Amino acid sequence: MHTRDTLKVNAQGHLEIGGADCVELADQFSTPLYVLDEQYLRKMMRVYRDTIANEYGNGTVLYASKAFSCKAIYAIAAQEKIGVDVVSGGELYTAVEAGFPAERIYMHGNNKLPEEIDYALDCGVGTIVVDAYSEADYLDEACARRGIVQTVLVRVNPGVEAHTHAYVQTATPDSKFGFSVQDGAAENMIAYLLGKKNLRLAGFHCHIGSQIFEKQSFVLAAQKLIAFTAKMKEKFAYEASVLNFGGGFGVWYTVEDEKIEPEGYCDYVRALLETVKKDCAAYGLKKPAVVIEPGRSIVAEAGITLYTVGAIKEIPNVRKYVAVDGGMFDNPRYCLYQSKYTPVLANRAAEKACELVSVAGKCCESGDLIGVNMNLPKAKTGDILAVLTTGAYNYSMASNYNRNPIPPVVLVKDGKAEYIVKPQTYADIARNDVVPDYLKR
Ligand SMILES: *Cc1c(COP(=O)(O)O)cnc(C)c1O
Repeated sequence: MHTRDTLKVNAQGHLEIGGADCVELADQFSTPLYVLDEQYLRKMMRVYRDTIANEYGNGTVLYASKAFSCKAIYAIAAQEKIGVDVVSGGELYTAVEAGFPAERIYMHGNNKLPEEIDYALDCGVGTIVVDAYSEADYLDEACARRGIVQTVLVRVNPGVEAHTHAYVQTATPDSKFGFSVQDGAAENMIAYLLGKKNLRLAGFHCHIGSQIFEKQSFVLAAQKLIAFTAKMKEKFAYEASVLNFGGGFGVWYTVEDEKIEPEGYCDYVRALLETVKKDCAAYGLKKPAVVIEPGRSIVAEAGITLYTVGAIKEIPNVRKYVAVDGGMFDNPRYCLYQSKYTPVLANRAAEKACELVSVAGKCCESGDLIGVNMNLPKAKTGDILAVLTTGAYNYSMASNYNRNPIPPVVLVKDGKAEYIVKPQTYADIARNDVVPDYLKR
């Protein structure tokens, strides 16, 4: 476990986050419970924001809100004066309801629905990232109907294979995302967009994947995007004024991962900015605005999940299962990607780990695990189990499988905890259920 000011073992031997004792949090709010450390996530937003502002000047950071979306996080992003990106009508609605300024919202998505495009235009979203011909057509017509010109970027695929899980690689030749720069698809799309009267093509976007640690992958993507920008200038006398490099910076989940302190993420941004400065100068391009879209690295390590240990089952010579009151409905990432996590017994956080166990959820699926071969002190029923680094892609991917309520989220700061997402009740889960009259007989 990597400790920090706001995540450590306290004098009682309990895990503490944001100044709040996890055992008391579990007591007060019950489990399962998502907990987010406000100071950490604000710090991450500031690191990105300030690095771009101080070392480049022209550009912005967007919080990729699919990593964790609820009204409070958009309110925090608004206070920190950064932008956000959204990938659906639902995320857009949440941002707008939170009072987030629409002009600082970027809208993504590889198959935006016509109604989502209309909704984005009605909200006055600043930039839409186009990812299909059908979308460009619909968007242009929808703008014409409104008598407006919409700023757009086009998503291109620079063809960089980042070293990460296949499901989170997004810029390989067979990706469903973007237009390839290698096979001429991107070039054709740009010609097409430049012919659209109601669209203003501001520049290019790429996003090479997620949970990437090698700076070189980002540098390579930047080099390719800038070479492409130069080519488009030559070909169409069109010079992109915005280059958006997406997100994807890696975070610490287990001892197998590199640990990067918040300030350390500056190095990724710097490597990108240096590449932009150098290569744009070399090609004689004007300095473009640089946009980045980190999601995971802003919220992942800010978040933990608290569970209560229930059943413990030892299968001799096979394994020991420690079951918790959550599972794939609050954290589907083991099921999806065999993701690894670090567990901590929050009520005995100073004790040494002494056995390898599988932490199982309560869902009716054998694959419903939080992890296998997790290193823990001898767990007992009633212990509070904390799983670290669950701030990203846990709550946002949660479901009501087995009609389990999605756990609430509390935001902690200086020892104070407040709900930012209230507990779901059984009635909430069944809210939209309808029994047609003919079934009532
Ligand atoms: C998912 C995504 C991001 C954020 O990726 P992280 O790995 O969470 O930083 C940024 N941009 C786009 C277009 C994405 O799809």
